[in-house]
Amino acid sequence: MTFEIKLTSKMRDQLIEHAKSELPNECCGYITGKDDVCKTLYKMTNVDASPTYFEFDPKEQFQVVKAARKANEVPVVVYHSHPGSPARLSEKDLELLNDPEMTYLIISLENNCTDLKAYRIIDEQIHDVKLNVKEDNYVS
Ligand SMILES: [Zn+2]
Repeated sequence: MTFEIKLTSKMRDQLIEHAKSELPNECCGYITGKDDVCKTLYKMTNVDASPTYFEFDPKEQFQVVKAARKANEVPVVVYHSHPGSPARLSEKDLELLNDPEMTYLIISLENNCTDLKAYRIIDEQIHDVKLNVKEDNYVS
């Protein structure tokens, strides 16, 4: 099985920026869109405020789902950062992230490098998701 999500380079930069702005803690958020196309980024509060774990605020989560529905979009990606570890799903991630329809994206800032990787978890199997990053088209 191969999976892919499409996002703009601007959105990728926003993800990295969000990860950096929450240091030393993990950041987290949603990207909503249609099918495999990422359209809207929602930065969320990590209520755990931890460098090794994240948890959404259920009220914020509800608001995102509501706003997405209004825009005729659905949650496509759940993202979080790993400030000091690689862009791989941790054991805790695998315990807690279990929606087979969701793409889970990790932004690693280990060793001052940035690495983005995405995964789907289906029947306890991890599948890589290709990040298809498109440059933004500006009309001048
Ligand atoms: Zn994690």
